[in-house]
Amino acid sequence: VKGFEGKRVAIFGLGRSGLSAARALKAGGAEPLLWDDKPQSMLSASKEGFTIENLKVADWSEIDALMLSPGVPLTHPEPHWTVKAAQEADVPVIGDIELFARTLNTLPEKQRPKTVAITGTNGKSTTTALIGHILKAAGRDAHIGGNIGIGVLDLPEMHAGTVYVIETSSYQLDLTQTFRPDVAVLMNFSPDHLDRHGDMDGYIKAKKRIFLNQTAHQTAVVGTDDEWSQAVVTEMTAHHSVNLIPISSRRTLGRGVYALNGVIYDATTDRARQIIDLKTVRTLTGRHNWQNACAAYSACRALGLTVEAIVAGIRSFPGLDHRMQEIGRIKNVRFINDSKATNADAARQAMSSYDGFYWIAGGRAKAGGIEELKDLFPRVKHAYLIGEAAELFEKTIGTAAPCTQSRLLFTAVAQAFAAAEKSGKEEVVLLSPACASQDQFTDFEARGDAFKEAVADIQRSLASA
Ligand code: ADP
Repeated sequence: VKGFEGKRVAIFGLGRSGLSAARALKAGGAEPLLWDDKPQSMLSASKEGFTIENLKVADWSEIDALMLSPGVPLTHPEPHWTVKAAQEADVPVIGDIELFARTLNTLPEKQRPKTVAITGTNGKSTTTALIGHILKAAGRDAHIGGNIGIGVLDLPEMHAGTVYVIETSSYQLDLTQTFRPDVAVLMNFSPDHLDRHGDMDGYIKAKKRIFLNQTAHQTAVVGTDDEWSQAVVTEMTAHHSVNLIPISSRRTLGRGVYALNGVIYDATTDRARQIIDLKTVRTLTGRHNWQNACAAYSACRALGLTVEAIVAGIRSFPGLDHRMQEIGRIKNVRFINDSKATNADAARQAMSSYDGFYWIAGGRAKAGGIEELKDLFPRVKHAYLIGEAAELFEKTIGTAAPCTQSRLLFTAVAQAFAAAEKSGKEEVVLLSPACASQDQFTDFEARGDAFKEAVADIQRSLASA
């Protein structure tokens, strides 16, 4: 991190990204002062040779900035008071995105990599992954990170020609000051995720910060499919000089990019031009994905990609790992990895997408279990139950569908395949666990990878038979 040479920067929160920030600041000549409300986190930091500073009694006149790690809950008393104390002393409170931005800002224009930032209530990860994929498919040196996958401070080093595609949460945006993405995307608003900001106004205000420093040289891609984002477009049209591209997944726009019945139109110039029919793209089904694709198209155009290159990238998009991802097909059976569905609500999405399926579920149950999925049980041809929740889920399912206690994922996959194959018709084996994974796996990614491995294993054994 550059821009903090000789400065004293307090860091609250010593998780992975807090420590990354500390290392990056130190390497850039700053003096990081570390603190956490959990003693064990401080222990490992001090072992690494960092200075621990008790921020409860800090002299803020001696500190140049307070960096909050992503995920530090401001509702907890200690971070809350720390932030308050810093603000009262006029010490800027920043986050990892701001550290990243300051480094970018020290580079001369010509050597500066491009940045695309994506925010919104829904579709951030999909849109971020899609933009990253299109850029890479077009031969650009693109890196994805931020709120998804790798934290911004752990992304590969900056080079001219590199494009950083960064998913940003409202929380992270709240802690920015000088961040100026070349392309800023704001997808949509819906009134969930209000826990941190308290109300819709605070939430919208935080997200709008993505445009804060943009000028006529930058591009803003903004949704118009809900009343809140539409209001942002109206406001920006009146007051902002930025190159604005409104998008819609449901209606014609006089100017902008929109999808009608899944067909994307580019109406940023005089005549609307038909771009691609998304109904032919298996990994981007559903209206919500049309919105994501409109956003990704607009962002990539703004970065100078040709329409042809973008269309090719959209067509080859493999979908997001572990989210309703078709990972393979053996004989008449398709395997869908929806390991990301760590609660019943998330599993509902996948379960309502298939009329009938062999369901692999279970793990560490969330409160309420799968009670709320009862209306979908008739679609379950057979349930293969794993992990701690297996017995509870069998009870909830009752006589609505046949159940097998498989215990292990590997066993469940083999059993589900054997049953599905026998039917001879097109079948789906769906891993959508409606549970956390930590009873048997480190995280949902490891669970999804184990599912893929189990499917590959069946493939191998059939090939050698
Ligand atoms: P995020 O990163 O914002 O949580 P994801 O891309 O991971 O979003 O998608 C999370 C879920 O939200 C998906 O499973 C999908 O059902 C839904 N979703 C995706 N894109 C959109 C969108 N543009 N609008 C509304 N819902 C969406």
